[in-house]
Amino acid sequence: MICPFCRHDDSRVVDSRPVQDGTEIRRRRECPKCGQRFSTQEVALLNIIKRSGATEPFSREKVLVGVRKACQGRPVDEDDLVLLAQRVEETLRSTGQAEIEAQEVGLAILAPLRELDEVAYLRYASVYRNFASLEDFEGEIALLRALPSNATNAKNSVTTPDTSSTAQQKTGK
Ligand SMILES: [Zn+2]
Repeated sequence: MICPFCRHDDSRVVDSRPVQDGTEIRRRRECPKCGQRFSTQEVALLNIIKRSGATEPFSREKVLVGVRKACQGRPVDEDDLVLLAQRVEETLRSTGQAEIEAQEVGLAILAPLRELDEVAYLRYASVYRNFASLEDFEGEIALLRALPSNATNAKNSVTTPDTSSTAQQKTGK
């Protein structure tokens, strides 16, 4: 990292500490030439390229807003949605790319949403994939019937009592 004071092309890390729940790391650096200290911050990039060409940071909140709408009136609780958004982020990050087309986000939502609730999936797919006719729905439903989702563990478990928000981390890796 170039020193911002004297432009020397090297600097030494003197301290590192995680910030923002560990999703960012801040480093204190020192220039071996002029001795000045400065800070840098490191984040794992995940930017979404919108249809307009503009980019914005990936937002779980935006995924949540989209799927929440599709799940209205369905037996899906907020924890399921939070978990889904987390899975979507993991899927996208596992591509190793720093920038991802908005389209890919939609695709990454479809599979876990289908496991969660097939009706919500159909609603989401109808908007996302521009279903224009009954035939489009029929085709998709035929696909759903032909290829049952492998939702083995997710939904069939007995409703866990009130362990909600803190118990989510186990799926992290
Ligand atoms: Zn310097």
